[in-house]
Amino acid sequence: MTRTGILGGTFDPIHSGHILLLRMAAEAFGLDERLLIPSGVSYLKKDRDVSSAEHRLKMCRIAAEEAGDMEVSDMEIKRPGATYTVDTVEELKRLYPEKELYLIFGADCLWQLDSWYRPEKILENAVIIAASRSGEDIRKLQQRAEILMRQLGGRIEVMEFPQIDISSTLIRERAASGLDISLMVPDGVKEYIMEKGLYRREQ
Ligand code: ATP
Ligand code: MG
Repeated sequence: MTRTGILGGTFDPIHSGHILLLRMAAEAFGLDERLLIPSGVSYLKKDRDVSSAEHRLKMCRIAAEEAGDMEVSDMEIKRPGATYTVDTVEELKRLYPEKELYLIFGADCLWQLDSWYRPEKILENAVIIAASRSGEDIRKLQQRAEILMRQLGGRIEVMEFPQIDISSTLIRERAASGLDISLMVPDGVKEYIMEKGLYRREQ
């Protein structure tokens, strides 16, 4: 069975932490394929203006090409309405019933998962990998994963990930202040941000 690792996100913009996370999760769990899925309209991020889907998708495509070992799916962006992970997982299962799906998230997801839309259904169709993001105690994450598995069923794995203090928020702030974002995002993504003037402060 092909094992497919999936990293979803707003990717506004995609950054080096995302690339490393997807790679290291694939390495740790012996995944054969790596897939980036930029989200459509997120019901969780309504508090700020998110860049257009077109820009976010394009930056993912540039990053994937540069990385050389990952693909990008536009399925969430093409789907009308709010993005729900459960729909993505069900769509992927319909398209590729022979694939084993691994959904990769930062560990903060372990504290939100039970408030997501139909988490049991997500776990019926995919394994969840939760990676530490800010040096969390791995045993605490493991305990939380066990509680969730009892509650929701399925399989939730915890993964130790080196602390990389890069976020899309940081990139947006640095770009807005005209600070260098080299190495924090793939080179092509940096060029794209400059060329399109993304995240520039209103003059
Ligand atoms: P924002 O600052 O806008 O929230 P972000 O950097 O968190 O952006 P998202 O697109 O929200 O990026 O994240 C997609 C996924 O990648 C999430 O599961 C998030 O937890 C994870 N992630 C992002 N950056 C890191 C990082 N530096 N280390 C580990 N996980 C990360
Ligand atoms: Mg985030």
